[in-house]
Parts: sequence; C-alpha cells; structure tokens
Amino acid sequence: MISNKVWNTIRDKEEIVDWANLVWSSKVIPRHQFILWLAFQEILNTRDRVKKYMEILDSSCLLCEGNEEIVDHLFGNYSFASKLWNKFAKNIEMTRFPEDWKEIKEVSMKKAKCTKFKSKIFKYGFGSTVYNIGRERNARAFSRNQRSLKQTWDNIVTYCNANIQTWRRVPKNEQNWNLYRNWNVSYQKVTKDTVFLAR
Ligand SMILES: [Zn+2]
Repeated sequence: MISNKVWNTIRDKEEIVDWANLVWSSKVIPRHQFILWLAFQEILNTRDRVKKYMEILDSSCLLCEGNEEIVDHLFGNYSFASKLWNKFAKNIEMTRFPEDWKEIKEVSMKKAKCTKFKSKIFKYGFGSTVYNIGRERNARAFSRNQRSLKQTWDNIVTYCNANIQTWRRVPKNEQNWNLYRNWNVSYQKVTKDTVFLAR
C-alpha cells in the first residue's frame, strides 16, 4: 500500500519530469531554456517575491498598471501576455488557449510529450514567447530598449520562422502548410533541400 505522502511525492516527480521534457527539449533553444525553467518552477524574481526579502517601494507590474507582479500575472491572464498568447494560439491553430499560467503550463507539458510537427512548432514558439515576455519585463525594469506588443510578437515570429526553416524533415500536408504560412515560412525555402515525409 502506498501512503498518501509517498504517492504525492511520486506525483510531484512526474510533474517535474513533464516540464523538464518541455524545458530541455531540443526544440527549445538554450537561450530560452533558463527563463522557461524559472517560470515553470515559479522561482523567477518577480516583484512579489523580491518584496519578501528586500524592501521595495513598488511591487506593481512593469508591463501594465494596477496589478501586482506575480508569476501568474506576468505569464498568464493579463493584457501583455494574454495578447501574445492569443496571437500564438492563432498561429499554432489552437481554437482554445488557457488564460491561467498554471493551465498554460499543463497544456504545454502535454504538447511536450508529442512529437508531431505541430507540437514541435508549439514547443519552439512557446519557449520563444515566454522568453520574450521575460525580456520585455526586464527591459522595463532595467531601462533597456523597450518593444511594443507588436514588435515583441514580430520578433517571436521572426525567430520561429528562422528556426523552422532549418528543419530538414518536414511533413507535407495541408495542415502543416497552414502552419508554415502562419509563421511566414515560404514554400520555396522549405521545399529546397528538404526531405519530404509521406504521410
Ligand atoms: Zn501587468
């Protein structure tokens, strides 16, 4: 008989393995991995956490007004992140995308287990989006050059686009062509030097 305590430990471990699959996936580039890892463990130094060990005057979100900066808010349901997630969901052809960061994590962990082409793009785009939310937050915290929402999104698309073009095993079917189009990958570029897999 497994005690509840042991069972919970096992379950926690499984969850860690699940997000580790995503964070350390070959489809998430090293530059994106660190922030993704911190965001998944919810140990990013968001202002609500900093406040616990350091006196800071302001713990409000740097990307919008009137909210405390907590990890759920930064990556989940609020204007800057949720607008990016909406664009991301559209590009990846998902009809429903969760708003809550915990739920977003769950969905992404499920995707990480899948090796379909769409899931590969999901992993890459997901890592890139989390990275860019963090990047933008830090740009505002440390007064570096800020990007607008549109510039941030364009940057994510450009990044994913450049990466997808380097993939050499590209399945050929209508659904995947839609994905290419969404990420601005040109037909000519992908078909050149590319091995097509029959479906
Ligand atoms: Zn905010």
